[in-house]
Amino acid sequence: MPKLISIVIPVYNEEKNVPAVAGALRDVLAGLSYDYEIIFVNDGSRDNSLPEICRLSQNDARIKGIDFSRNFGKEAATSAGCHAAAGDAVITMDADLQHPPALIPELIRHWEDGAEVVYTVRKKTKGINIMKKITSSLYYWMFKKMSSVATEPRSTDFRLMDKKVIEMFRRLPERGRMFRGLIDWMGFKRQRVEFDANERLHGKAGYSYQKLFRLAMNSFTSFSLLPLKLAGYLGLLITFFSGLLLLIMLAARWGFNPHLFTPLSVLATINIFLVGIVLISLGFIALYIARIHDEVIDRPLYIVREKINLDNGMKGE
Ligand code: UDP
Ligand code: MG
Repeated sequence: MPKLISIVIPVYNEEKNVPAVAGALRDVLAGLSYDYEIIFVNDGSRDNSLPEICRLSQNDARIKGIDFSRNFGKEAATSAGCHAAAGDAVITMDADLQHPPALIPELIRHWEDGAEVVYTVRKKTKGINIMKKITSSLYYWMFKKMSSVATEPRSTDFRLMDKKVIEMFRRLPERGRMFRGLIDWMGFKRQRVEFDANERLHGKAGYSYQKLFRLAMNSFTSFSLLPLKLAGYLGLLITFFSGLLLLIMLAARWGFNPHLFTPLSVLATINIFLVGIVLISLGFIALYIARIHDEVIDRPLYIVREKINLDNGMKGE
């Protein structure tokens, strides 16, 4: 029996792209000797993405769907698709054809050669604005400095994962998640593939700077303890320098220049400064407490309204 490849596609307002990506995938996959399923995860779209998915799934049982009750974000949608996927390998990709389906045979080839995670790296993206380029580089630079997880700059969510990796992934319970980061965190045998990203086919990118900022913050607090430690380092530094200042003040008072400092003003300045530092530290700690809170209340990661052509249940729900 041929092996099964699952393709997982998060969908948010992609009514025109859904049939296009399904068609492109069918063309590519028809040339390969694998069974396949395409799982569209409708992440609370407000356009006709869901009717499009339903229409496609009626004509072809290999096209499946999950419909979220509202917009839960791409990370949750990708996770839901992976929880439902039955394949020997799972490929995640965007709906807007920025991730070329023509690359899939190459991803599968690397997998057949023994790679357990085949990840793709953008060489260049057409139609990406300078602001996005700068923020993205800044993000990767900070992430690299802060975290021990090997995440490559410009690596994307277009990737292939072996069944083993997906099974492990299902066991990860955290909510404030970044799919890519978690896969990188898991390790496994990895293979890198480069590609040129196209412009998105139809519509606008659904990722606002606010969403991206939240994602970046999530990834920092999931994969790095530096913000927490930073407060500690700052505290040490402040204690050291204020101690030094105190010594100088004492030396001045009883030694070289008794009128150099008015003790009260210096004390007041140091006090205000310290209050600022304490507030920063509290802010960092609060980030982590917020995460702990999120995990402890154990809210489901997503809520599925209905499943289309999916009778194998969803592990990890
Ligand atoms: N997406 C999603 N939920 C969202 C935002 C986006 O499922 O809240 C999907 C979207 O439909 C697309 C993929 O995530 O398939 C990437 O989104 P987009 O093209 O907007 O992001 P970018 O290309 O800028 O990374
Ligand atoms: Mg896109």
